[in-house]
Formats: sequence, structure tokens, C-alpha cells
Amino acid sequence: MKKVKNIGLIAHDGCKKDMTEWVAFNAKRLSVHNLVCTGTTGKLIEEVYKTKFPELKANITKLKSGPLGGDQQMGALIASDQLDILIFFTDPMTMQPHDVDIKALIRLSAIGNIVVACTRSSADFIISSPLFETEYEAIKDEHENYVKRNLR
Ligand code: PGA
Repeated sequence: MKKVKNIGLIAHDGCKKDMTEWVAFNAKRLSVHNLVCTGTTGKLIEEVYKTKFPELKANITKLKSGPLGGDQQMGALIASDQLDILIFFTDPMTMQPHDVDIKALIRLSAIGNIVVACTRSSADFIISSPLFETEYEAIKDEHENYVKRNLR
């Protein structure tokens, strides 16, 4: 993981306020990294930068909306080692039409051993970690080695 990180940002509808607040609070720190968002989350984050931090040039890529394939696109980035951190604010109180995509995303994150936060407090811990600003060598195995290492 390089110093400049590829960070995925996704928030379910019930958590979008949390996400925009969190991004606003951390706008400067996040702006030096590459931000990849699902569609609607990305639009809201762009809006935060445009209205509150016009001086910061955030690099934001918008994928499709989550339920329309955006989660799968994010999963593909993880599977091809193009994502370092995933900040994924999930709504535990609402059924999601793309539940299978969400599960796949979490599973791929575990396989790729990327950094994941599903709650705002975890996201706070991640962004305030000294490792957030440095290079970091995450263990990246092919699946075969992963299975071998975990066999008892
Ligand atoms: P959205 O997708 O950012 O397009 O709303 C988020 C999700 O996965 O529900």
C-alpha cells in the first residue's frame, strides 16, 4: 500500500449523513488520496468538497450506484488489488435489495486483506492511525496460500 491510497467510500441511504459529516470532518486528510465512491455517495461527497472546501482538489471517481452494480465494481477493484481501504457505512436496520453484492464486497475485502470500516468509529480509528500516512505492506496471498496458511 503506497503513501497515496485508493480509498473506497460507500454509504447506505440511512448512513449518508454520517458519511458526508465524516468526509467534511476529514476533508483535508482525504483530499490527498484517490477516492472511489458508489454513485450517489460520490455525488454527495463531491458536493461537500464543492460547497465547503472549494480550495481542496479532491480526486473523486464515481462508480455506478451501489444497487445498480456499483458494489460489484468496487469488488472488482478489490479483487484486482486496486483498493487499499474501504469505508463502508452499512445500515443495519434496513433491508437492502443488493444484499448479496454487499456480502460479496465484505468477503472480497477479507480475501484481499484490505482495511475495512463499517462504522464511523472504526473509520475514525483508521484515519487517525499513523499508518494512514505511510506506506504499508499488507500480506497479499493468492487464495491457495491463504487456505494453506489457515489449515489446521
Ligand atoms: P449509492 O450506493 O452510493 O449509489 O447510494 C450505496 C449502496 O451500496 O447502497
